[in-house]
Amino acid sequence: MPTKLRNLRSSREIDAMRPAGLAVYQALQIARQMAQPGVTTGQIDDAIAEHFRRLGAEPLFLNYPNSSAGKPVFPGVTCTSVNEEVVHGIPGPRVLRAGDVLSIDTGCRIKGWCGDSAVTLPIGQIEPIVARLLDVTRGVLELAIQLMAEKQWWSEVASEMATYVRDQGFYVVENFVGHGIGRDMHEEPQVPNFVSPQLRRNGDFRLEPGLVIAVEPMVNLGTKRVVPRPDHWTQATGDGQASAHFEHTIAVTDDGIRVMTAPPTKEEQAAALGQGIAAG
Ligand code: MG
Ligand code: MG
Repeated sequence: MPTKLRNLRSSREIDAMRPAGLAVYQALQIARQMAQPGVTTGQIDDAIAEHFRRLGAEPLFLNYPNSSAGKPVFPGVTCTSVNEEVVHGIPGPRVLRAGDVLSIDTGCRIKGWCGDSAVTLPIGQIEPIVARLLDVTRGVLELAIQLMAEKQWWSEVASEMATYVRDQGFYVVENFVGHGIGRDMHEEPQVPNFVSPQLRRNGDFRLEPGLVIAVEPMVNLGTKRVVPRPDHWTQATGDGQASAHFEHTIAVTDDGIRVMTAPPTKEEQAAALGQGIAAG
């Protein structure tokens, strides 16, 4: 039985989600500009916190409850996961070095609507195999966006995503999945980047107008296995090799697929200039 979604959005509601999506895009542009050897993950987190403050945007990661009862809430505005760290890395004093890769993930809420996006950034020169891991992970997200316009069911997209990654010799992480997004960052449905018996049994959903989901492939170089770190948040690869993560908030509309966390359009840039705000 496929999931019957209760949180489909009107086109007006989808329009209302764009300011949060744009703010998250801008936050990741700040990270892109700062991500250099010698910079700490904490400095990048501080700059993005300030960006959200200026916009009056509510950061969604700060104080996020731990899935284990009694464990600490998330202390940052971004998740910063370096090299073999897959997701949920805690920003802090760690200094980025040439050859590292930084996965940075953030989300905010503006006027009641959420946006969520992530990128993996190379720090200086990186190994060719790791550069290819980044290309494949970015590529599988782009593939998903393209397929969402063509397919009827999420399982059809997820199946091709998994095949694409496997054909490149890399591994889709299965411990973590994407999600519906709207009033809250994490809503139904679950959005896996692979096809499981559970998805086929009762988790599949139709790609219909009003659907808004965060699609977020995590791809590992050498194993799909993920292990938790003792800080109660960071998740790392089981073999210590690199991982990459790309995410967009994506809506299915009557006019096609809309990437809510995409760069500003010409119209948005013009409107922002009119208000004296740099669209970034
Ligand atoms: Mg995210
Ligand atoms: Mg997400």
